[in-house]
Amino acid sequence: MILIDGREAAAKLKKEIAREVAAMIDSDMKAPHLAAVLVGDDPASQTYVSSKEKASRAVGITSSIYRLSAKTTEKELLDLIDFLNKDEEVDGFIVQLPLPNHINVERIINAIDYRKDVDGFHPMNVGKMVLGEPSLISATPRGILYLLETYKIETKGKNVVVLGRSNIVGTPMSILLSRKAPNGDATVTLCHSRTQNLKEITLKADIIIAAIGQPEFLKGNMVKEGAVVIDVGIHRIDDEKAAKGYRLTGDVDFKAVSKKTSHITPVPGGVGPMTIAALLKNTLLAAKK
Ligand code: NDP
Repeated sequence: MILIDGREAAAKLKKEIAREVAAMIDSDMKAPHLAAVLVGDDPASQTYVSSKEKASRAVGITSSIYRLSAKTTEKELLDLIDFLNKDEEVDGFIVQLPLPNHINVERIINAIDYRKDVDGFHPMNVGKMVLGEPSLISATPRGILYLLETYKIETKGKNVVVLGRSNIVGTPMSILLSRKAPNGDATVTLCHSRTQNLKEITLKADIIIAAIGQPEFLKGNMVKEGAVVIDVGIHRIDDEKAAKGYRLTGDVDFKAVSKKTSHITPVPGGVGPMTIAALLKNTLLAAKK
């Protein structure tokens, strides 16, 4: 079994990004600038945004964070988006999700200039991705494609099962893997909460991408020998034996599943680091355009 090391792959990608950023600065261009908008004080969102800021700085990307109160109105947030769309200093920005319930997420995403939409959530970027045109692709699926490429995992002609159909992970992942393109050409089955006989489907998969948000959902008896398993999930589980009183786990029962796989991602240290690296790559692409 080969453990897919997301930290190592992300470090390699970040090194390439840092080299490109340095080359831009050497040719008198400004450094790419990534802004993040954080509404409210959700602890997980605060951690994500801080990690993105730290990772940006490490590769030479300028970073700024707009911290807004949970009481911010939709109009105030739309005004800030309008400002960031027009700000020539900013090449790309993200609005960290989830947003407070009184704010309409679709309206917010649609208001972002798609050329600065480094999260790749805007309908224009999603549409271009579906058509196979150059676009800013959602960071998590983008990161997973890098992982598959780094570990030379063939997707052409393979049976891939994607568990979960969210707009940010499962759906774009299924489209990217089924495209007529490098890292594509797979036969993809997209499963969700209404899927029947899930185990029968996963047992036929050469590659499984688990993104359903259910801790340790994918069990050893749902995976065939030699399969590749990519675990997108991330959960904090109370654990008295752990020093911090909790442990992190994914959507995959790692202990049982890893006994059968040819390759598997751990949690933490698998998909998570790649998501951030892919976001930085999107920022670089946005700056170059
Ligand atoms: P969502 O909650 O938006 O989507 C979950 C999907 O899983 C839905 O399509 C849902 O089906 C499906 N689902 C839920 N329960 C079942 C079930 N029992 N059987 C089959 N399908 C099921 O999740 P996200 O895509 O946003 O995230 C998935 C996981 O990945 C989460 O743990 C999240 O924290 C993590 N994540 C990690 C990232 C990283 O960088 N490592 C980035 C983004 C997410 P239906 O559509 O029918 O409701």
